[in-house]
Amino acid sequence: MLQEIELGLIRNEFENLKESRFLGEKLNAYCDTVLGWVSALQEASAKSKYDKKIENMVNAQLWTSLNYLKGSTLNDVPHEMLFCLNAVLADWKLSDSVLTTAQSQDRDFHINLSNPGDLISKLIPKCDFPAPLIRVAFPELYRHHPLLNVALYHEIGHYIDKEKGIVSASLALNGEYMALAGDEIRHFKSRGANIVKVEESHRCELFADLLAAAYCGPSIIQFLEHIDLNDMTCETHPSLSKRRKITDKFLKGESDPLIDLFGESLEIRGLGPLGIRYAISAECERALTSFEPPTIANIAEVHGLFPSAWEFYKNYNKSDTRPSWQALSPLQAFDLVNDLTEKAIRNHDIIMRWNYVGP
Ligand SMILES: [Zn+2]
Repeated sequence: MLQEIELGLIRNEFENLKESRFLGEKLNAYCDTVLGWVSALQEASAKSKYDKKIENMVNAQLWTSLNYLKGSTLNDVPHEMLFCLNAVLADWKLSDSVLTTAQSQDRDFHINLSNPGDLISKLIPKCDFPAPLIRVAFPELYRHHPLLNVALYHEIGHYIDKEKGIVSASLALNGEYMALAGDEIRHFKSRGANIVKVEESHRCELFADLLAAAYCGPSIIQFLEHIDLNDMTCETHPSLSKRRKITDKFLKGESDPLIDLFGESLEIRGLGPLGIRYAISAECERALTSFEPPTIANIAEVHGLFPSAWEFYKNYNKSDTRPSWQALSPLQAFDLVNDLTEKAIRNHDIIMRWNYVGP
């Protein structure tokens, strides 16, 4: 009984969202697909066709999807970050993916890699699958601070890994402990952990870090340094020191057995090397110093804004060439650097659209 009522409430919310006209074209199509699923589920539920436990699971999945969709309305979504993430997806030939974003009320970044369609398709034959779905969450407080959202590059790295099977290929190529050091293996074994699973989780995290570093350089680690103050390893995540070490090696082009293994994995999946995919605009430093949004020449320079802007902020009051910046408080300076970065991305997005449409 409750399951049916709940499903009805979820349906109403999806319909309200659709009617609000605040969803883009892609999300509208996704919303239509979900409403189609809900109709089929309601019909089957009325005939008491499903186990209540399964209905509960389906409702939970749809409810979660609703939250991600709510955070993706044109009013709420941070367009500039999405522009960057969609560029990364295009780079990996994943442009058909539907990117939805939920805004968390605390300092929580995560990616939800499950697709409600996978579960629903087991209940409804011929369930119409939409494009692959990405559900990422980031703190609402950081909405207009792109520098604090570099972690989204890491989250999208998890999605690319899942879609392209990179870590799974690495495990098939070499199942030995590559992410875990000897003392960690002893530590996790003594706690009765599933050590194979730990190795896999750590590889996933390290790959996502490398992917983020490929696009936004050391800024991914600079951000992690602010939020991970314990430098501890756990079953799901490597320590910050390890993440920093491997990312540094990657950015310097140094050899490392795990980086090399990821390279081989990309190759057997028919993908190019990870490489450095950002470029630093020569104009960035001057523009920020003059309180102007930097002019961006190409998408590599858009990604390059993140390391440039982080570097600028770190030294904003340390140079005599920036007298006007020296009067600013750290928060004022941080707000300004973020605002100029956001504007630079937005300007580039507008120019790209304009060029696409033509004069
Ligand atoms: Zn992660």
